[in-house]
Amino acid sequence: MRIGIGYDSHRFASGRRLVLAGVEVPHTLGLAGHSDADVVAHAVTDAVLGAAALGDIGQHFPPSDPHWQDADSLELLRRAVELAAAAGYRVGNVDVTLVAEAPRVGPHIPAMREKLGLTLGTGPAGVSIKGKTNEGMGWIGRGEGIAAVAVALLRSNGP
Ligand code: MG
Repeated sequence: MRIGIGYDSHRFASGRRLVLAGVEVPHTLGLAGHSDADVVAHAVTDAVLGAAALGDIGQHFPPSDPHWQDADSLELLRRAVELAAAAGYRVGNVDVTLVAEAPRVGPHIPAMREKLGLTLGTGPAGVSIKGKTNEGMGWIGRGEGIAAVAVALLRSNGP
């Protein structure tokens, strides 16, 4: 077994969709970014790549590449899972903490677990997502953006 950690953050911006773990969440602001700025998918992608010691999301899917403009970040995650599979690993489970002052994500967590579970090949049982606020402190507390931390456990496909 191997374990990896991922972190990501994105700034709020007007005129953008808010996509979290592949689910569009209704909110007055979206997240700025080159892709769809799915902060949860990006943290999980880095956790999967990290567990397999395969580098990071920026290395595999550089923002300078126009191919990833407004990209569906679940597609990036799917590719990271494929890279891990080529290295001999499958995803066991992931656990995510999403930190945002608003919106409340609780009602959307079942849909997020479904989406990530499908992409990771674990099903929803292999995906945990927990929403927290930052108790009003710092840039998250001021509502400037959202952060996510993820851990991923990979299992060897070998004997
Ligand atoms: Mg990102």
